[in-house]
Amino acid sequence: MGETIKCPFYISHNQKQRNVTILCENIENNMGFEVKNMLWFNSLEERKDWMELFCEDRYKECPYYKTVYKKYKERKHGNCK
Ligand code: SF4
Repeated sequence: MGETIKCPFYISHNQKQRNVTILCENIENNMGFEVKNMLWFNSLEERKDWMELFCEDRYKECPYYKTVYKKYKERKHGNCK
C-alpha cells in the first residue's frame, strides 16, 4: 500500500489477530444507533487489493461508497418528494 486514501468516507483500517477490517462512514444518518460500516477481510492481502483498487484510487466505484454517497444526495434534495 503506501498510497494516500482518497475516499472521503474512510475512517480507519485495523488488524487484530484474524480481524482485518476497514471502517467507513455509516450508510444512513439518524438511525437511532451509533453504528459504522465495517468491512471484514479474510486476509491482509485481500484488504490490500481492495484498498488499492477502491479506497486509494477508484473509490467512486466502491459499492459502499455508492451507498454512503446516496445519503448526501438525498439530503441535498431536502424534503422533495
Ligand atoms: S472506498 Fe469504499 S471501502 Fe474504501 S473507505 Fe471508501 S467506502 Fe470504505
